[in-house]
Amino acid sequence: MPAPNIDTIVSLAKRRGFVFPSSEVYGGLGSAWDYGPLGVELCNNVKQSWWRWLVYERDDIEGIDSSIILNRLVWKYSGHEATFHDPLVDCRECKSRMRADKLEGYFPAGDHAVQFDANERLRGGLVKCANCGSTNLTDERYFNMMFRTTLGAAAAEEDPAALAYLRPETAQGIFINFLNVQTTMRRKIPFGIAQVGKSFRNEITPGNFILRTREFEQMEMEYFVKPDAEHLKLVDEWVELYVEWFKGLGIDGRNLMLHEVPADELAHYSKRTVDIMYRYFPERPEEERQWEELMGIAYRTDFDLRSHSNKPVDEEGNRINAESTEDLSYFDESTKTRFYPHVIEPAAGVNRTVLAVLMDAYSEKTNDKGETRVILKLAPQLAPIKAAILPLAKNKPEIVGMAKAIKRSLQPTLRAVYDDTGGIGKLYARQDEIGTPLCVTVDHQSLEDEAVTVRDRDTWEQERVKVSDLPEHLQRRLQQ
Ligand code: ATP
Repeated sequence: MPAPNIDTIVSLAKRRGFVFPSSEVYGGLGSAWDYGPLGVELCNNVKQSWWRWLVYERDDIEGIDSSIILNRLVWKYSGHEATFHDPLVDCRECKSRMRADKLEGYFPAGDHAVQFDANERLRGGLVKCANCGSTNLTDERYFNMMFRTTLGAAAAEEDPAALAYLRPETAQGIFINFLNVQTTMRRKIPFGIAQVGKSFRNEITPGNFILRTREFEQMEMEYFVKPDAEHLKLVDEWVELYVEWFKGLGIDGRNLMLHEVPADELAHYSKRTVDIMYRYFPERPEEERQWEELMGIAYRTDFDLRSHSNKPVDEEGNRINAESTEDLSYFDESTKTRFYPHVIEPAAGVNRTVLAVLMDAYSEKTNDKGETRVILKLAPQLAPIKAAILPLAKNKPEIVGMAKAIKRSLQPTLRAVYDDTGGIGKLYARQDEIGTPLCVTVDHQSLEDEAVTVRDRDTWEQERVKVSDLPEHLQRRLQQ
């Protein structure tokens, strides 16, 4: 049983130190969130799982970490300055400002590929305000979502020479480093470059907790292939691989859905995109409104490498990019040909993955006293804390000493904590609620037989284990 709605996770996350509303001491900052002690561990574990899976376990992917602020020209030639915008409308009744293409009635029913005039639909009263339901909306206008900043101490506010942007995607840092990585690592196509890091978008309507925020983290990978590769099939292959990866993180396949993005909704660089959707809104009665994008897999063609290169020319023979100093083409030794590699891009969000993982791991169980307990059934690899070491009696120095010594001995190989701030029932309940897979209890008997009780989070079953066998026992159980 996953969480019934996002609100359940918001309250658990705040209560137990996963995620806090940001800047609360100053009344908060709309849709900004801070990750607490457990949240940062969960995010790190998701990112590490992804990195291990792509960069370590495969032989064809390298990692990089590029700057968040890049030369402004990157965003000019990537097309983001001209086209990275969303349609915005205002409601004349309740004065809300909203992203138009997320509103009910914006798209004609049925075939999304059909051409339509959004303003005609808005004027005709077919589109509804998400806040008050009114159809009295303004025409749409486009709003660029890149955050602007100025570089340098002396820069005037509007000095175009100092204008820069916070990156709205991590992908461009990969494209402009394509040749650096390819030549230094002596890579042959096909190969990929992975990067994880913060991105920023001035979203018109952020919301739904960490699902849509203005600052977020992405895990992107650009997979470079020959121009004549079977691109569309490669998109399907990566979709399949990612679905399996998400399932490996504990997400139930029934809460994942594939969405082929209609041609008229494709980003400017994409020839085909398949989104993997997660059921973030199970409480909505209409099945089709339960889903939101978890990640997208796009076929970006050679668009980016070509547009950042100084060689390509237009029909009149003029350089398309007169400001680049490099040619990002690739020389294929085997065929003695030079070309711009094509790219398949799986782009996932760390925060949306964390939210999906939390929702899917949420469950409730009734104990023998009839009390309902929350159990967060996180995959052991993602659990912020792997084992909690608990003394049965905190006023017995020998028991406390033994428990603390066990915690210290485990710490170098796995994340363990010691806790004696309550009775054992309460301590177990607390660990269940934050997803700790195993609790280790030290009791009076332990002092004599050098053994402890290992309790399972999901079954509540207990097993007696020799202290000398404990590290190996825990490692084995955590890998199951
Ligand atoms: P949406 O349609 O939801 O705005 P998108 O299609 O613009 O998303 P992409 O550009 O494909 O998103 O970005 C790749 C991934 O980055 C998304 O699938 C999502 O996981 C994450 N992401 C994008 N925007 C945000 C955001 N504002 N907040 C949190 N995560 C985001």
